Amino acid sequence: MAENTYRPATLLVHQATDRDPATGASTVPIYQASTYHHDAGQPGEYDYARSGNPSRQQVEEAIALLEGGTHGFAYASGMAAIGSALALLKTGDHLIAPNDLYGGSWRYLSTILPERGVSTSFVDITDPQQIEDVITPQTRAIFLETPSNPLFNITDIRTVAQLAKDHGLITLLDNTFMTPLLQRPLELGIDVVIHSGTKFLGGHSDLMAGLVTTADPAVAKRLKQFQNAFGAVLSPFDSFLLSRGIKTLKLRLEAAQTSAHTLAQRLQAHPNIARVWYPGLTDFTSRRLHFSQASGAGAVLSFELKHQAKVAPLLKAVKLPIIAPSLGGVETILTHCWSMSHAAIPADTKLRLGIHDTLLRLSVGIEDVDDLWDDLERAL
Ligand SMILES: *Cc1c(COP(=O)(O)O)cnc(C)c1O
Repeated sequence: MAENTYRPATLLVHQATDRDPATGASTVPIYQASTYHHDAGQPGEYDYARSGNPSRQQVEEAIALLEGGTHGFAYASGMAAIGSALALLKTGDHLIAPNDLYGGSWRYLSTILPERGVSTSFVDITDPQQIEDVITPQTRAIFLETPSNPLFNITDIRTVAQLAKDHGLITLLDNTFMTPLLQRPLELGIDVVIHSGTKFLGGHSDLMAGLVTTADPAVAKRLKQFQNAFGAVLSPFDSFLLSRGIKTLKLRLEAAQTSAHTLAQRLQAHPNIARVWYPGLTDFTSRRLHFSQASGAGAVLSFELKHQAKVAPLLKAVKLPIIAPSLGGVETILTHCWSMSHAAIPADTKLRLGIHDTLLRLSVGIEDVDDLWDDLERAL
């Protein structure tokens, strides 16, 4: 059992449970069981697997420990986590969210939530005045994502958390891009932190998972109630994979981040590239703000090609990156934002947000950076 006074690398490896309490096995086994014996008719610690089981409990306690929360919840995907966290809102409530939200979240907030009677104002969330302007007596919550993607807009977490407190609003932050290793929103005043565990936490592009954590007991009680009632829970097997992935997060993310920095600089100097977005670059606009709330730039960058005609040949020529809509794996992932990660967003909205079809997102993996560069340079 890791104490929360340990440093991140130790917490990541040991998590909240570092061996099977029942047998002493070096990992918590995959408790592939749907229900648990009630001795003499009395429920024990576990009752029915949807309500809780040792495999899922391990990752739920891990995310709470890593983010500085008191309660953690694991779901079948990042979207299941977001949908379940937003079940804190009721019919008639109003939500404020970034206009450059992750595509899947945008789809949920703009199509499903309105049918449940929850409306959302999408604003430039980096501007506190725009948030203030849309607050009504029905507003209950602010949803944040920083850095946003693919254009890396940075929101001042402390400022928005304070603004929300002043108005009695709950704040939820999708911390998928940074992970608790680089950014710890609860310490900056955020109420609920959400992750797609599919990305850096899992880290191997071999599972889907979502996580939520909070240090607010009333919020935790509602999340627990909804998780049990709605049932979009993480399976024991995927819980095992996620816990295993989390153990190496520091090694993976730091290696990938170093390579991302190198590739961002080399791309920036390439004649076919119009622009590169990466918080680690010295000329990145919100660099100071980002590093006031995060300890690293992460392992994802975006770049824009000068000529649209070069996009298809590039996607055809690169050999190492998997070309796909995801990020955070040990392998490098190249995404054509227009047609993949942001496909759910209408064309005119994408253009208004500055997402052009010449824009590519690179989630840098842990391959040798010179092999990655040789491959990219050849394809460019
Ligand atoms: C991938 C992603 C999600 C959704 O997670 P899934 O596991 O794909 O459901 C949410 N937010 C961000 C920032 C993501 O990158």
